[in-house]
Amino acid sequence: MSSSSVRGRRTGAAVAAAVLGLLAAAGGPALAATDASSPGRSPASSSSAPVHGAAVPQGISRLAQGTGRDVAITVDDGPDPTWTPQVLRVLRENHVKATFCLVGTRARAYPGLVREIAADGHQLCDHSVDHDETMDHKPVAYQRQQILDGKAMIEAAVPGVAVNYYRAPGGAFTPESRAIAAAHGMRPLGWSVDPRDWSRPGLPAIVAAVEGKLPEQPTVLFHDGGGDRSQTVAALEQYLPWLRARSYTFTFPARTAP
Ligand SMILES: [Zn+2]
Repeated sequence: MSSSSVRGRRTGAAVAAAVLGLLAAAGGPALAATDASSPGRSPASSSSAPVHGAAVPQGISRLAQGTGRDVAITVDDGPDPTWTPQVLRVLRENHVKATFCLVGTRARAYPGLVREIAADGHQLCDHSVDHDETMDHKPVAYQRQQILDGKAMIEAAVPGVAVNYYRAPGGAFTPESRAIAAAHGMRPLGWSVDPRDWSRPGLPAIVAAVEGKLPEQPTVLFHDGGGDRSQTVAALEQYLPWLRARSYTFTFPARTAP
């Protein structure tokens, strides 16, 4: 790792600490992401108590919020001590808010990174306890445990911050898992563009895959965990300014609308 990226991480941590302080004082963007009608919902009760406020549909959300040139960036499988800080840096430099789908065991291992993600105003998404892509073939009780314990592990890292989405590992949703997630305030989250960044197809292929879907308010799948994500970082560095220059806006995936 270069000295500049190390320096960037330290700066990022300092910024995150400062923003956390502001959040504590003002109920800032990450907290504001909670349903407006349930601002007092405590993290201790959220994993078992019903969620009040706007109902969360059980259908899989695949598109960005908004009505225009909107794109939702989602980042999966972290947090990762090497790649998450680099992805956060690129997002910060481009003033982009994204949605991070966090694996519970990794959130427990790197709670500081979870706090940094939340402090930057990104949305948090439960990506299960340990990313079992075969969970759709397993008992509902197991799926429930994977979903709710994963949520609790993220909440333990950042108390008071909402986890507004659930993305099944590998997209392995079931009707039951979607219902469990929605009942706990988490919209089942899919994607509409998969640039296959995890297979390291090369930067031009990643960018081309994303750019072709822009008219459809895409939710785009990227990864900051599970392997070498240098191509993901490079793609975001190229892709985010390209979108910004064309007046696209960055939003979160649809949560309470179909
Ligand atoms: Zn994943």
